[in-house]
Amino acid sequence: MMGKKLVAFCGPSGAGKSTIANKVINTLPYFELSISATTREPRQGEEHGKHYYFIGRDEFETKISAGAFLEYEQVYEGLYYGTLYAELDRIWQSGRYPFLDLDVKGAANLKDKYGDDGFFVFIHPGSIDTLAQRLRKRGTEDERSLEKRMRRASFELEYADQFDFVLYNDNLEKAETEIIEQVKAFMNKPQ
Ligand code: 5GP
Repeated sequence: MMGKKLVAFCGPSGAGKSTIANKVINTLPYFELSISATTREPRQGEEHGKHYYFIGRDEFETKISAGAFLEYEQVYEGLYYGTLYAELDRIWQSGRYPFLDLDVKGAANLKDKYGDDGFFVFIHPGSIDTLAQRLRKRGTEDERSLEKRMRRASFELEYADQFDFVLYNDNLEKAETEIIEQVKAFMNKPQ
């Protein structure tokens, strides 16, 4: 496992993580988005095996006991999200590098465990108001879920400085250019 590079983005949901991640992956095709397993219900348009591996709680817990996860968290009350070893191996074996989208706690734990072979980037939304606006605009959450996500976001922002790099997403294009350079520099660094 060690000696294999990976890049992970974390930050509150609505910070622009997936938009920026997709940009990096399209620009640097030696990355592939690691598909997480989750017990959350699929949203409209989400597909099993593409956005997530949507599995039941029992199956998730069986996999936890079997040691199938590199990391997992209950990101929101009662909902599991986790990165499967098998998914990372699939990507490395294809000659590419995994690109992970993690919650802040999962990323912080993995950074401790994984060390210098991982590049852990915190995507900062700029301000909590910007974040609320983005989440509302996205329209995927009801008010209760939105509230839950905002509460979690204010707590997550306090962890920003624990990561290898904090990317401020107040200007999307600028942020994308900046992070592509940072990721390239990390990939070019000898192990
Ligand atoms: P969403 O429900 O919006 O798809 O994702 C909710 C949160 O779970 C996001 O912050 C995302 O980064 C995080 N997440 C997704 N997959 C994983 C994973 O495999 N592990 C951890 N720790 N967090 C994840």
